[in-house]
Amino acid sequence: MPMLERADWYDIARDTNWTPKYVSQEALFPDVMTGAQGVPMAQWQSYDEPYKTSYPEYVRVQREKDAGAYSVKAALERSNIFASADPGWHSILKAHYGSLAVGEYAAMSGEARMVRFGQAPGMRNMATFGMLDENRHAQLQLYYPHDLVSKDRQFDWAQKAYHTNEWAAIAVRHTLDDLFMARSATETAIMLTFAFETGFTNMQFLGLAADAAETGDYTFASLVSSIQTDESRHAQIGGPALEVLIANGRKAEAQKLVDVAIARTWRLFAILTGPSMDYYTPIEHRKQSFKEFMQEWIVGQFERSLIELGLDLPWYWDKMIAEFEFQHHAYHLGLWFWRKTLWWNPAAAVTPECRAWLEEKYPGWNDTFGKCWDVITDNLLAGREDLTHPETLPVLCNMSQIPICAIPGNGWNVKDYPLDYEGRTYHFNSEIDRWVFEQDPVRYRDHMSLVDRFLAGEIQPPTLAGALAYMGLSPAEMGDDAHKYAWADAFRPDPLAKSAA
Ligand code: MN
Ligand code: MN
Repeated sequence: MPMLERADWYDIARDTNWTPKYVSQEALFPDVMTGAQGVPMAQWQSYDEPYKTSYPEYVRVQREKDAGAYSVKAALERSNIFASADPGWHSILKAHYGSLAVGEYAAMSGEARMVRFGQAPGMRNMATFGMLDENRHAQLQLYYPHDLVSKDRQFDWAQKAYHTNEWAAIAVRHTLDDLFMARSATETAIMLTFAFETGFTNMQFLGLAADAAETGDYTFASLVSSIQTDESRHAQIGGPALEVLIANGRKAEAQKLVDVAIARTWRLFAILTGPSMDYYTPIEHRKQSFKEFMQEWIVGQFERSLIELGLDLPWYWDKMIAEFEFQHHAYHLGLWFWRKTLWWNPAAAVTPECRAWLEEKYPGWNDTFGKCWDVITDNLLAGREDLTHPETLPVLCNMSQIPICAIPGNGWNVKDYPLDYEGRTYHFNSEIDRWVFEQDPVRYRDHMSLVDRFLAGEIQPPTLAGALAYMGLSPAEMGDDAHKYAWADAFRPDPLAKSAA
């Protein structure tokens, strides 16, 4: 064997298809689990994974990656980078760990589905490595924040978030369950690896690694770079699966899977990455606005890979691009307003300097979102922080599980997109969310949003305190303004009054 090059034996070694004698092919690979859509197994032989590796090569490289990431962490353990970082950066870390660490285990289940039920040997082989990758990511991203729990117990939510009914955790779970916990092997290949990973997470991790290095958090930078190299490999599982489907007359079905997955993933990115880039990142470290980032990577890069595969742009492409202007600003306002219901402390980031940056990047911001922040700022200056908290429940979208919101102030365009289905009225943030529901109503109809549960009497007592307890947030964990409202001081006409804040 050592005498042969990998290319000489790889195709034979990874081809583990055989003809079953004791059970039927259909019993071994039921269509509901394979998602092959009737494309016979023989047709899947043309599946050609672009990245080829062997198990010994994989193990050697992964061992080096782990050694690298853990040694950077150990070397910087006693540095004061963490203590001296801006509180906004801590919020990015907390939001990231809580919403993704345990989700990596979910991704491992998705990979395992492809390992067992993938129709192509190459898919099963790649997914085996992908499964090991995701296990590594979960372990790394639970281990790193664990060290920080003694400094700040909100970091405990890296472990805790997925096991609670906290609303953002429900939103993340609802999406990931849909895209890769409750899907066939082929659907997972398309929705998890092609749409979610190639389209979004790969970029998210590249961007985060750069931001971390810029902030001086080299521990986190090396962690996310280490993860990203795995993602860019196993994200390639979906492309060849799409090619097989398209070549066998299943383009419309493949297109729908891509469209649903991008629609759902976009919402999560808008609420997590949007505020992180345009608000939580200190202004001096911002390289690009979220909108510029989306235009460069999603419109510029991902659009090309869709077209190259022979797919069309999703029908809602222009509507989604229009949302780059406002949706994450609306989400940020909501996150800050409902800050007690979060496991991180949102940074308002609306000093005069920040507002000038926002107005430059998003012309009209002062006239719309700025109007809401004016009221919040005035209340804080008047010593009425109590007025900056909500007294009512938001209307949650029955698809994204995120409050329905859009442009406030002079550009007001907030609208519910309702749908009556089997005697129940569902509410949606946009035509896109409603369209996703309509593609498979049976799949989504029974889910109760947090507000649905509240109205059904499942949350007791029916007060904010009862809701916080239901969400698993102890008083020491619930979010607050990241900078303890110090940013409002910049608006005081009399600098001598600053100490009164
Ligand atoms: Mn991962
Ligand atoms: Mn992955």
